[in-house]
Amino acid sequence: MSSLVQRYLEDVHTELLQERSGAVASYIPELARVDPDGFAICLATSDGHVYEVGDSRREFAIQSISKPFTYALALADRGIAAVGEKVDVEPSGEAFNEISLDPTTERPRNPMINAGAIASASLIDGSDAAEKFERVRRLYSRCAGRDLTVDEAMFASESETGHRNRAIGHLLRGYGIIEGDPQEAVELYFRQCSIEVNCRDLALMAATLADNGAHPLTGERVLDPALCERVLSVMTTCGMYNGAGDWVARVGLPAKSGVGGGILAVLPGQFGLAVYSPRLDQHGNSVRGVAACRRLSQDLELHFLHVT
Ligand code: GLN
Repeated sequence: MSSLVQRYLEDVHTELLQERSGAVASYIPELARVDPDGFAICLATSDGHVYEVGDSRREFAIQSISKPFTYALALADRGIAAVGEKVDVEPSGEAFNEISLDPTTERPRNPMINAGAIASASLIDGSDAAEKFERVRRLYSRCAGRDLTVDEAMFASESETGHRNRAIGHLLRGYGIIEGDPQEAVELYFRQCSIEVNCRDLALMAATLADNGAHPLTGERVLDPALCERVLSVMTTCGMYNGAGDWVARVGLPAKSGVGGGILAVLPGQFGLAVYSPRLDQHGNSVRGVAACRRLSQDLELHFLHVT
């Protein structure tokens, strides 16, 4: 069985090597420097099998795939109700970096767009900025099952060019969503986006969500099951930016992508899947990543509405 899965993933990988459309993100100088041809697919099952194909140990910036995990930590720190007063769970249909709040609720529409992610970062407990970030870094590391670190060059690049995100921070402060220093929340967000992962890490992070918050290899309970359910719900409706509707229709798995080229997807109770390929489509999602997830979903009948 295990060699069958490995061979199947190798076939998908080989086929998708032909797919060369899309472009590496260039709005952050450090992102523009990555090798566009890197490509990996990893699958980690809830019972601890990890399959890796291609450049599965190549490191890249987690970028927006950080958002569900910081949201999970905010939920753990403050509770679902208190976080809900600050960040909604409605799909936005807008670009990830839209400078907007919902006009009726005056809240960010969801935690998967920047406004909601920066608001989530502001809700992390800790006595100072360093402690807050360390708690975030530790949570990601426990989900991955190894110690993750920040790419400082990426962080500097993110911080130098992050004017829209700073504007979002001040907007949130102006509306009372952020109660402390908005720049501290924005810096925390830049730092979390700059954490380096590889495709295997992402598959294990996804598998931890798939396994109700328990890491499939270390066995550690990292997240509460009720929080996992909340995070996966938001990933289902909002995880793929304004490509979310198409994603649900064609793949049907909770997922999150990042402009670094990663995508993770979760089949609850079964496995976590991750793809790395930095050429992006117009929404900011990895072209090969989307194609690989579609392919697996179809071939293996993974869509959550599929009835056998
Ligand atoms: N660094 C990114 C930003 O501009 C994260 C975005 C992403 O992965 N979509 O906020």
